[in-house]
Amino acid sequence: MTQTHTSKVGFVSLGCPKALVDSERILTKLRSEGYEIAAEYKGSDVVIVNTCGFIDSAKEESFNAIKEAMNENGKVIVTGCLGVDEGAVREVTPGVLAVTGPQQYEQVVNEVHKAAPQPHDPFTHLVPEAGLKLTPRHYSYVKISEGCNHRCKFCIIPSLRGDLVSRPIRAVLREAEKLVEAGTQELLIISQDTSAYGLDLKHGLEKWKDREIRAHMTDLANALGDMDVWVRLHYVYPYPHVDDVIPLMAEGKILPYLDIPFQHASPKVLKAMKRPANDAKVLERLKKWRSICPEIVIRSTFIVGFPGETEEDFEYLLNWLQEAQLDRVGCFKYEAVDGAAANALPDPVPEDVKQDRWERFMAVSQEISAAKLQQRIGMEMAVLIDEVTDEGAIGRTYADAPEIDGKVFLEGAIDYVPGDMVMAHIDDASAYDLYGHVVIDDDQDEEGWDW
Ligand code: SF4
Repeated sequence: MTQTHTSKVGFVSLGCPKALVDSERILTKLRSEGYEIAAEYKGSDVVIVNTCGFIDSAKEESFNAIKEAMNENGKVIVTGCLGVDEGAVREVTPGVLAVTGPQQYEQVVNEVHKAAPQPHDPFTHLVPEAGLKLTPRHYSYVKISEGCNHRCKFCIIPSLRGDLVSRPIRAVLREAEKLVEAGTQELLIISQDTSAYGLDLKHGLEKWKDREIRAHMTDLANALGDMDVWVRLHYVYPYPHVDDVIPLMAEGKILPYLDIPFQHASPKVLKAMKRPANDAKVLERLKKWRSICPEIVIRSTFIVGFPGETEEDFEYLLNWLQEAQLDRVGCFKYEAVDGAAANALPDPVPEDVKQDRWERFMAVSQEISAAKLQQRIGMEMAVLIDEVTDEGAIGRTYADAPEIDGKVFLEGAIDYVPGDMVMAHIDDASAYDLYGHVVIDDDQDEEGWDW
């Protein structure tokens, strides 16, 4: 029998969950064509580096990854956000085989065909129906649209990824269904602007199972809620129709968790940022949402030190945060991004002031988080296990998204595997994490539970 060479492709995936989904699509296509995905540079016929070019530190990490792949292997294809500026990539790392931008799956695959021969018999049997995933099997990101119709001044995503293009709702639901069939326990819905989903499709109707549903966030959440797994919504702007998903959370159809990137609270700064939905009466709405669904957890991110932000604006933000009592909060010091409109704004905030505001902001948010987590002590909560070590299991409750929020440490819970769902008694809490022990696992619970 003749031994044939199977082309091997090395892969480095950097950046946000949206870039991760791009990587999964490229890998799925290559695997379906019979390529092997290699864990090391050495021995790979070609290496793909999926880059992030959003802020300077991400660019630097991407350039370092390209240089490392060039040194170790020498045959490198660059894709992703950094690829939008091909000239800069070629200037810093001359000799790369090709440079393509985000979502250019076909071009990447074509470049791989040129660099490494396509295997002769591309049997598709090695590809699971749900595609290849870079996240653990028990949770999956589902990207529902690309691009964004807004023009926030600090952001270059619309120039990198274009205006909003929503995926047909049937395609999203079919993908979600395949992921659930393959063992996913948690679907994380991502996009640049989840509440705008379907706007470009004029929220048109499509047939799904025995009914017709609109390409609309509410219908999507409802249909995903029928799949009997955790459904978590990310990047939701507080447009009025967001009110309609809160009852779905109260009913237990989707997780009572909303990731709303507010970025600021001062009307003046929000206006200068050109943020969408900035005129919504957010505090009142939070109150209303909590009255409908008391378990709801709100996660958000903020930027301090945006050009023109005064001490008064910042104090407005701190007071707002105290009042809003958000559960999970991230904060960034404003950083100029090449090509962003905000670079032309007057009154930059000095670095030491940004640092001081960041520290003050984090102190308030940490205090809120610690107080909220203290209230969890004594509760029994469903925990989805992400990791098992010699000392116990590490998982998350509904209140925590993977990689960005807190964790639950279950000491001594070593007889589990990632993806198991257990009921845990919460014994203790720190500012961001919970500590507890398993009281019941899903094999013992015939009825099942939500959270
Ligand atoms: S909503 Fe604003 S920050 Fe978000 S992707 Fe669109 S332009 Fe960027």
